[in-house]
Amino acid sequence: MDKLLLDELDRLKNTDSKTIAESQSQTFVGLVDFHYNNNARYRRMMDLHGVSPKHIKSSSDITRLPIVTSKDITDDPIDEFHSVPEHEIARFLQTSGSTGKCKRIPVTNQEKEGIFVQTAVMNFLAGVKGYYKTNGGDDAGGKIYSLFPCGPWPSQFFSLNACSLIGPTVTAGIHLPFDWHVEELLTMKPKYLITYPSFLSFFWKKMSPKMDISSLGLERIVLAGEPFSETDRKRYERLFKTSVSDLYGCAEIYGAASECDHLRESGWMHWYSPNLIMEVLDKETLEPIDEPQKEGIMVVTNLLKRAIPIVRYRMGDLISKGEPNGSCGCGLNLPLISRIKGRYDDTFQYGGANIYPDQIHSAAELAGFEDKYQLTLTRKSDENDGVFSDAMVIYVEKEVANEREKREMESAFSRKFNEALSNSSLEYSQIVNIIEFCPPAQIELVEPGRLFNESKTKLKKIIDLRR
Ligand SMILES: [Zn+2]
Repeated sequence: MDKLLLDELDRLKNTDSKTIAESQSQTFVGLVDFHYNNNARYRRMMDLHGVSPKHIKSSSDITRLPIVTSKDITDDPIDEFHSVPEHEIARFLQTSGSTGKCKRIPVTNQEKEGIFVQTAVMNFLAGVKGYYKTNGGDDAGGKIYSLFPCGPWPSQFFSLNACSLIGPTVTAGIHLPFDWHVEELLTMKPKYLITYPSFLSFFWKKMSPKMDISSLGLERIVLAGEPFSETDRKRYERLFKTSVSDLYGCAEIYGAASECDHLRESGWMHWYSPNLIMEVLDKETLEPIDEPQKEGIMVVTNLLKRAIPIVRYRMGDLISKGEPNGSCGCGLNLPLISRIKGRYDDTFQYGGANIYPDQIHSAAELAGFEDKYQLTLTRKSDENDGVFSDAMVIYVEKEVANEREKREMESAFSRKFNEALSNSSLEYSQIVNIIEFCPPAQIELVEPGRLFNESKTKLKKIIDLRR
């Protein structure tokens, strides 16, 4: 294990939460001042909000600041929201944005080490331990299989670099042929596998006719990037004959939370507080919720991020904070947050791709079925092997003359809708057209009035029945 990671784990064991909070507060004051003075648009946002750096004396003044949303990052021109000159940027990470435009998140060289150490701590907590000595003094553990897409996305970039601090890591791109994975798994015999929950099921389906994955002797599977239910966890554990942990992260805040061995299946995760300030806001009033265990919108300030202001950044996930000052058997002084309880808007994930309501609405418009539709997400699991697959069906109100016209129109709508959504979401296109681990959206026509008659209030456009 790398010394950087060992030192950080040591620091987290020996620093009490009061000291972490004090250093957090100091960094926070400097961070707001930095973004105010180096980012014209953020300065305008603060001015309009009637707040300047002189009002920010500690992290308890955080609620005086405006909320930043993903729209602020996607607004053109792309560099207007940058707080550093371009020559300080090492690379750009890409994820889909709420308006259909992709978010390009700049990463500075200065920030990189912190990202990797933070994400490594979270992977280590989640059970990716590399090589280690058992209590009896024997050598145990082994290689790490990082199974994510290679490309402009954050997952493989974070995972590879972080896991390399823990132990030898295999770059297992999910686009590689399944025969490559068979050869690699049989030769390298990894002990840890890290991937998306929805990809794991597909991976099992494709790999199990070719090899017996459950006999690899995996010590842990870590699932990141998408929420999954306890039922899904049990299913994966049965299929792969190992234990499964949850890790929460994204491009803006890196690997941010994870279950340690003591928290698995408890509904709680550790939160990386040295770099990240977490707020929970009421869904209606957007006022801060101080009581633990009360659900609200997750808003995060990334103290490490200088390239763009991730300051009071609205994640959109619903969570609650844990009881303060609770100690955990793992010995790390990191606070608790709940596992993700859902989204407060209609954003959803389909096979690891983030899909935003605006992308669905504009694809519907381009496909020509306008406003009268309802999208339903379902998860079908195969009784025999326990493998599940997700499906996206869109019901559209339309008058048709006969069955033949209905079928023709459904297939034309499906084709146009998938084309439009693939154009606006590179992630969706990867999953549906290239890796093909989720089926494309299917359009089904229903008689006019059916969707709207069933709803007394405003029609809910997106219904997620997977959990
Ligand atoms: Zn713990």
